[in-house]
Amino acid sequence: MIIKEKRYAFIGCDNSYKESNIVLFGAPFDSTSSFRPGSRFAPSSIRTDSIGMELYSPYLDKSLSEINVFDGGDLVLPFGDAKKSLDRIEKYTTQVVKDNKIPVMLGGEHLVTLGAVKGVLKKYPDLHVIHFDAHTDLRDEFFDEKLSHATVIRRVHDLIGDNKIFQFGIRSGEKEEFEWAKTHSCLTKFNFDGLESAIEKVKAKPVYFTIDLDVLDPSYFWGTGTPEPGGVTFLQLLEAMGKVAKGCKIVGCDINELSPPYDTSGASTAVACKLLRELLLQL
Ligand code: MN
Ligand code: MN
Repeated sequence: MIIKEKRYAFIGCDNSYKESNIVLFGAPFDSTSSFRPGSRFAPSSIRTDSIGMELYSPYLDKSLSEINVFDGGDLVLPFGDAKKSLDRIEKYTTQVVKDNKIPVMLGGEHLVTLGAVKGVLKKYPDLHVIHFDAHTDLRDEFFDEKLSHATVIRRVHDLIGDNKIFQFGIRSGEKEEFEWAKTHSCLTKFNFDGLESAIEKVKAKPVYFTIDLDVLDPSYFWGTGTPEPGGVTFLQLLEAMGKVAKGCKIVGCDINELSPPYDTSGASTAVACKLLRELLLQL
């Protein structure tokens, strides 16, 4: 058994593994961050700062005390070894979905998504992906590296193929990535336009939902490795997340790219905590 009971949990997520249908865990990895590393500290910051947040969501009229979530703590990931780190994330995720639970992973940089997708894919071969991000993440290589936060969605495409990836909020990337996306993924620039029709297309399919928090405008969320002006608001993201959670069969998800060293006020961490609470309640 690779899953261990853990003492320090995200607020309200102190249920046992056995009684929970959602399993939260941290993937503290940021070795390929190209601009500003630090996201490896996100899972622990989110847990620590969650103490200051209410369990109750006025948006959903529901409390974390009403649901069962197990917080498995952080995986031990070999710093600097992307392949081995992804293998460990895959192994953990495989176990969680095998036990009929939904893995909710806290990054870390966005590359960690690849490990979780691999783990989920074994049980759900017809997996579709909904991806919120400022960045395309569709490069084939980044600084000669196949495994990078800038290539992660391209690597996911290697596994699941054409027209199964739905991207929203995208406003940064190379021209070639946007061109490539025209025939291989379903990419929406700048906002969540068309989210409803994407949900309609995938509603009968298993969906992995990955949220790169830099989809938010830096005025709402600046504590991140690659801030990108022109993003969505907190409430727009919250509403879009709610639509995905309500309309799709989510079999795995993650929130990534909070970088606490760049969040000197703690406000970006508060944003991540609140979005995580809402996501857990929406699931
Ligand atoms: Mn990303
Ligand atoms: Mn991004």
